[in-house]
Amino acid sequence: MQKLIVANWKMNPETAEEAKKLFDSVKNGVKKVKNIEVVICPPFIYLPLLKGLALGAQNVFYKESGAFTGEVSPLMLKNLNVQYVILGHSERRNYFGETNEIVNKKIKAALRAKLSPIFCVGESQKERAKGNTKLVLRSQIGEGLKGVKKGEVQNLVLAYEPIWAIGRAGENPREAQTMGLYARQIIAKLFSLKVAKKIKILYGGKVNSKNAISYVKEAGFDGLLVGGASLDGREFSAILKSIVRA
Ligand code: PEP
Repeated sequence: MQKLIVANWKMNPETAEEAKKLFDSVKNGVKKVKNIEVVICPPFIYLPLLKGLALGAQNVFYKESGAFTGEVSPLMLKNLNVQYVILGHSERRNYFGETNEIVNKKIKAALRAKLSPIFCVGESQKERAKGNTKLVLRSQIGEGLKGVKKGEVQNLVLAYEPIWAIGRAGENPREAQTMGLYARQIIAKLFSLKVAKKIKILYGGKVNSKNAISYVKEAGFDGLLVGGASLDGREFSAILKSIVRA
């Protein structure tokens, strides 16, 4: 399976000039590697300015149009040639109150518009300490994918992102691997083994050029979701290089 490396720029950088500069630097890095799919997820307003790499959005609303001040629809993104959308990210769940039900509506709306959701799941420190990691994954994946059809779910990418690891310290690759495999089992149970084998499962949580390879090679993830390190063109390119060398 071709590895998929996704950059989540979050609410950065501050200006369009900086965004273009960062994008160009990543583009140069991508030219030097082969056989890796790279997706850049900048803030909405930079999406029309960036050309030459696959793009993802960081959010989308689940309605097609109408009186929803401040929201962006799946078709608006599709019309900008956006291919992916990050959904269920812990920052959306924690700061903006997105529940599994809301995430589910967004996933279905994205799939209807032929956008590929990058569906993030993962446990908090507290949930992990209580031994509830598997339970959390079961409910996030089960509720997030409720009503999604077998034929559609194959267009989705799952990202296992333990919340406590995001922006802090990456998880031990072996433990991450256990959860990645468990997430695949959940999908197999909900859909089928065949479908589960086709879906890419990414790891996210403080990935950098030093640890990236351990999540892909040792832990067997199909790719990475990179936050902080994707804001440095050189560091992000070094992540790509390290994956190719594997
Ligand atoms: C993220 O927010 O999706 C993420 C993985 O962030 P970081 O790489 O900074 O931990």
